[in-house]
Amino acid sequence: MSFIGRLQGVQARIRGACERSGRNLEEVGIIAVTKYVSLQRVMEVLEAGHAELGENRWQDAESKWRAVDSSPYAGQAAWHFIGSLQTNKVKEVVGRFASIHSLDRPSLAEAIHKRAMQLKIRVPCFIQVNISGEQSKHGISADELLGFAEQTARLDGIEISGLMTMAPYEAEPEETRPVFRGLRELRDRLNASGVVPYEVKGLSMGMSNDFEVAVEEGATWLRLGSVLVGKEEG
Ligand SMILES: *Cc1c(COP(=O)(O)O)cnc(C)c1O
Repeated sequence: MSFIGRLQGVQARIRGACERSGRNLEEVGIIAVTKYVSLQRVMEVLEAGHAELGENRWQDAESKWRAVDSSPYAGQAAWHFIGSLQTNKVKEVVGRFASIHSLDRPSLAEAIHKRAMQLKIRVPCFIQVNISGEQSKHGISADELLGFAEQTARLDGIEISGLMTMAPYEAEPEETRPVFRGLRELRDRLNASGVVPYEVKGLSMGMSNDFEVAVEEGATWLRLGSVLVGKEEG
């Protein structure tokens, strides 16, 4: 199926989730996660007029990023870094990606801040929280959030745009709901605490398997790979 066909199918499902939960469609952004696909498929996404792209490793993203940057779509594309970010890749990612969805430790915050200061920019970041408590998932624990957010808010190179989480894969998507609800409640508690001197609005949550539940629980960014851009071998 074409990208546009898939996008229309996904949008219809998001619309349904918005109607069920009384949300506005405009509050829900879609990041097309292109980590499983080649440059050709990335170009198809951009040709369809979709700007928001997501990649989780600089090593895999680099050739696609460079090709898009020297294409007519350079001004349109907005790349989001969604995967675990090694500190030694910060100099590559900051300045090239519109936002970072995987801020999960103080040393990474410091490194992003330093690089942003060199470039005289402020980087929108989502703090990744491990709500499910699964060992395999990255992210700080819910208990650490207020302290980490307070420290991070002092860094001028970082704008805390929101919180991010990944739910465990569940055969029954409904079972992810407590994870997404937990992230929303944590964001509300963060704002009520006043440790960040501005409102933290974003919730980056929901993937191919569970995005409708995430929308119902308040997601502002969905990160969609297989359901939206598909998967290619090799
Ligand atoms: C790969 C990836 C996604 C997209 O995964 P799908 O299940 O294919 O939608 C979303 N978020 C992160 C952090 C990822 O690494």
